[in-house]
Amino acid sequence: MIQPMHSKLSVFILQILGSALVLNVAFNVNAASLSTENVFLITTDGLRWQEVFSGAEAGLMTKEEGGVKDTNALRKDFWRATPEDRRGALMPFLWSQVAKEGQLWGNHAKSSIVQVTNGRNFSYPGYSEFLTGIVDPRIDSNDRKPNPNKNVFQWLHAQERFQGRIGASVSWGVIPWILNSDVARFPVWSAFDVPEGTRKFNLSPTVQGLLDRATPIWSDVSLDTFAGLAAKEMVLQLHPRAFYIAFGETDDWAHDSRYDLYLRSARNFDRFVRELWELVQSIPQYHNKTTFILTTDHGRGPAPIAWKSHGQAIPESSFIWVALLGPDTAPLGERQNTPKITQGQIAATVASFLGEDFVAASPKSAKPIPGVVGK
Ligand SMILES: [Zn+2]
Repeated sequence: MIQPMHSKLSVFILQILGSALVLNVAFNVNAASLSTENVFLITTDGLRWQEVFSGAEAGLMTKEEGGVKDTNALRKDFWRATPEDRRGALMPFLWSQVAKEGQLWGNHAKSSIVQVTNGRNFSYPGYSEFLTGIVDPRIDSNDRKPNPNKNVFQWLHAQERFQGRIGASVSWGVIPWILNSDVARFPVWSAFDVPEGTRKFNLSPTVQGLLDRATPIWSDVSLDTFAGLAAKEMVLQLHPRAFYIAFGETDDWAHDSRYDLYLRSARNFDRFVRELWELVQSIPQYHNKTTFILTTDHGRGPAPIAWKSHGQAIPESSFIWVALLGPDTAPLGERQNTPKITQGQIAATVASFLGEDFVAASPKSAKPIPGVVGK
């Protein structure tokens, strides 16, 4: 016999079950309409939108302004008569596959603006803006400090269905702090010390042996070769569903006044993206079920001097770019006359490709980029 009390309780439980069902159905429809089951966010530090959309800049392909060692060799590799040909020579994967099957945002000549909104235009605030979706004025240095805000990868990893399915491979030694890797507890590869408690990914002996024998160039950035190789090993061993890969050389060669090596590292970034794309397309878990999102932490100043740097004093360095490629993004190529979007919108965009609503969990985070998720 059901007592009145129990009846009420039963009705109440039924109501809860009912609304849970409705929510569940709504959620499943959303998730079911997407083909994406895996998202890779791949960044290269401080690569200008100018090179992404116009390729090499003539005035910087010199010994004087660009610190170029062999101008003939550089011109042969990267100089072409038109911006379209130059960008194709610099980033062939971006301008063949991504431009054909995905979307690129940020070309000012086509009235498309992507902007950093933290006002600081340097790395920690930039990484934090696109990883957390939040602009936090407390973030005012590149020091190895815990991030006061939760990032989208950390948030995903805390959910049961993403447990053990998140990873990161990073060139710059500070990024594990920006990711809160000690609290987040997903595997991270870095060539440097990481916050205590981080689950550090171990490279294969061959790649670790190369790293140990490679001459270090910078004190806190490893060569992109290693973040790229570590990323491939992590894909094969851990099969992450949400994966963050951070390349770093583009920023450092520019700071070092080496436009030739800045261009060559941009070219290498494009190659790593292509190789990762080909790798994931060869694995059933990822084949036609993976979205790549490409971007950067900040822009840089204009030629002839400020291109080497970025920051609050160089307002041009707030302009960045975003590229997307995957089964749920319409093949609109280079976008024109887009609404202005901000760096912070990337975090929620990562989640939305997985059918997840990051802004609901992190209300201060910016909303996803409009018009890129779902065809
Ligand atoms: Zn920098």
